[in-house]
Amino acid sequence: MNERGLLIVFSGPSGVGKGTVRREIFNTPDHDFEYSISMTTRKKRAGEVDGVDYFFRTREEFEKIIQNGQMLEYAEYVGNYYGTPLQYVKQTLDEGKDVFLEIEVKGAAQVKEKMPDGVFIFLTPPDLDELRERIVGRSTDSSEIIEKRMKIAQKEIEMMSFYDYAVVNDKVSLTAKRVKDIIAGEHFRVERVIGKYLRMIQEYNQ
Ligand code: 5GP
Repeated sequence: MNERGLLIVFSGPSGVGKGTVRREIFNTPDHDFEYSISMTTRKKRAGEVDGVDYFFRTREEFEKIIQNGQMLEYAEYVGNYYGTPLQYVKQTLDEGKDVFLEIEVKGAAQVKEKMPDGVFIFLTPPDLDELRERIVGRSTDSSEIIEKRMKIAQKEIEMMSFYDYAVVNDKVSLTAKRVKDIIAGEHFRVERVIGKYLRMIQEYNQ
C-alpha cells in the first residue's frame, strides 16, 4: 500500500514573494511534489493560462463550489476569491504523492485546522524596509494605502507562530533550495515513517 503523501503549505505575508519562490521551485526539475492549482475570481493577467496558473471562475461559480463543500480553504484577497479545490488535494495525497499549496495566510490557517499534520512553511522578508520596498515597487497605490498594506503585513508576520518553519526570502534561488530541503527532510521524521515499520513487524509475525 502507498504511504499517504505530504501536504506542504507555503504561505507568508503579502508582498514577500511567495509566487516568485514557488515558480523557482517548480521551474527546476529536482522537486518531487505536485502543485495544487488554485481557483480565483480575479482577472487573468497577460500570459496567464486557465488551468495552468489558476482556474479562473466567476464569483457565482466560485460561491457554488464553496456551498458544495468542494474547497479545502478559501479567502478573499483584494476583492477577489482565492481557494484550493479539495478533490485534487485528496486524490493526490491518497496516491502517495506530495501536494504543494501556495496560499495567503488566512487560507493557510484554515488548512491548519483541517489538516494539522501538513508541513507549514512561512516565507519571511529579510526585514520590514525591504518588504515595504517590494510593496511600493509593485503598486501604484497612494502612500496611505501602502501604509495600510504594511500594517496588514505586520499582523500577517505575527501569524508565523502557527507554522513549522520560517524561511527568509533574501535570494530567490537560495530560498527555493531551503524550501526543497525542508520538504526532503520531513520525509525522514520518525512520526511519518513509524506506522510503516510497525505494520511490517505485525505482518512479519503473522
Ligand atoms: P495573485 O493574485 O498575485 O496571483 O495572488 C494573490 C495572493 O493570493 C497571493 O498571496 C497568493 O499566495 C494567494 N493565493 C493564491 N492562490 C490561493 C488559494 O488557493 N488560496 C488562498 N487562500 N490564497 C491564494
